[in-house]
Amino acid sequence: MGRALRLAAEGYGRTGENPSVGCVICNRDGVAIAEARTADDGRPHAEEIALEAAGEAARGGTAYVTLEPCRERTSGAPSCSERLVEAGLARIIVAIRDEHPQGAGGLDRLEGAGLAVEVGLKARAAHALYRDFFEHAKSGFS
Ligand SMILES: [Zn+2]
Repeated sequence: MGRALRLAAEGYGRTGENPSVGCVICNRDGVAIAEARTADDGRPHAEEIALEAAGEAARGGTAYVTLEPCRERTSGAPSCSERLVEAGLARIIVAIRDEHPQGAGGLDRLEGAGLAVEVGLKARAAHALYRDFFEHAKSGFS
């Protein structure tokens, strides 16, 4: 998660309206096989890039994500939570839940699909990273 947070911090301020997220994927043996941050201007999301890089090796593995993976996308494309399920990951570890109305609920979807979900690893560092994003989301989408 430390690595994922460093990736997210690298993208801070460069991802437009979207939060800068860091994602590290480990295979079933716990070896890191892919990592990514949200692309400049906000797309693709970190999870999409990392899953693409990991491919089949992600099956049965664990994803460390700095922020709750999105539940749905405004574009109608598959959300990160759908993609994580499709990729066959066994476990998702998230630093903090998303307070954005469109992002929130991703973890429920993952749990519903049978993945093991853990929240709160390095939460304090993640809160500092997403404070502005959450405030903006609340004022802009209320
Ligand atoms: Zn996403």
